[in-house]
Amino acid sequence: MTVPLIDPFARTIDYLRVSVTDRCDFRCTYCMSEHMTFLPKKELLTLEELERLCTTFVRLGVKKLRITGGEPLVRRNILSFFEGMSQHLGNGLDELTLTTNGSQLDRFAAPLAAAGVRRINVSLDTLDADKFKAITRWGSLDKVKRGIAAAQEAGMRVKINAVALKGFNDVELFDLVGWAKAEDMDLTFIEVMPMGDMGDGTDGTLRLDQYWPLKNLRAQLATRYTLTELDHRTGGPARYVRLEETGQQIGFITPLTHNFCESCNRVRLTCTGQLYMCLGQEDMADLRAPLRASEADVPLEDAIRAAIARKPKGHDFDYSRQKVAGQVSRHMSHTGG
Ligand code: SAM
Ligand code: SF4
Repeated sequence: MTVPLIDPFARTIDYLRVSVTDRCDFRCTYCMSEHMTFLPKKELLTLEELERLCTTFVRLGVKKLRITGGEPLVRRNILSFFEGMSQHLGNGLDELTLTTNGSQLDRFAAPLAAAGVRRINVSLDTLDADKFKAITRWGSLDKVKRGIAAAQEAGMRVKINAVALKGFNDVELFDLVGWAKAEDMDLTFIEVMPMGDMGDGTDGTLRLDQYWPLKNLRAQLATRYTLTELDHRTGGPARYVRLEETGQQIGFITPLTHNFCESCNRVRLTCTGQLYMCLGQEDMADLRAPLRASEADVPLEDAIRAAIARKPKGHDFDYSRQKVAGQVSRHMSHTGG
């Protein structure tokens, strides 16, 4: 029997997030600069190589695979990758899913559902079309809404992820909650993390100024709803409350106000084959070299195990004392959130 992947802090690693491209058709201000230099295509692993890598992880005990990016659905032929990975569903793999900005979902929802995707995370921070355009720089709210509708028609459960931004979507808190209820979608808020371009304030996007601690968001929610803390965890960093008046569950991902590292079960693979053992640290392991060096999988498996043995205890993000600490220089699109 294969020995599972267990890190030095006795955490079983059974969740792999894969960024299949660093490219995106949006330029969200907290994620990318307007003028990004992307990796030359030749640097990228081919989809076949990504499939071999992911298959190796599944053999080593990974049960959940989340495809992300950049925007995963802008990678050419990405459906073939989903179709390939779906062969592992029920055969080691419990869940195949993705995080998307929703821009391409209207055409991809049905084939993704056919490939076994049952749940999907769509990132959306505002219900105001002008604000949506401003925060994504290039996106269209209407198109994303059409994508969400297509996903639901195809039978997928949709979860909305919204980055909590002070002075931006704080005024829309109750609208977002009401919309999620009306559309029967789950909703999770995320604290903005200090990654990549921190903004210089000239366009109003100084990251620290936008930081809206989720404990304040919760306090605002509590002015209208009765919040019941829920115990259940999804194996992820989110914590949940139930709104008693509506029965909705609202998630909170709070890397800054509440450190969730002790239960971390995941690692992140980039489209060039770098494995990041922690979202908030710079250390990574190159898996492309062992992948390409041999057709045999043993050197690759050894490299994966050696990387897991280096997984750090946690990140060092910290906004206390009104300054940013623990930031990492890469953009979120590099590791896919
Ligand atoms: N393009 C896809 C999308 O937007 O869903 C997948 C990749 S995106 C990098 C994954 C998630 O990271 C999105 O929900 C996005 O809002 C979030 N994200 C990006 N930059 C962030 C930051 N600085 N702090 C917190 N979340 C961030
Ligand atoms: Fe693209 Fe997602 Fe980053 Fe927005 S958050 S720029 S959609 S990768």
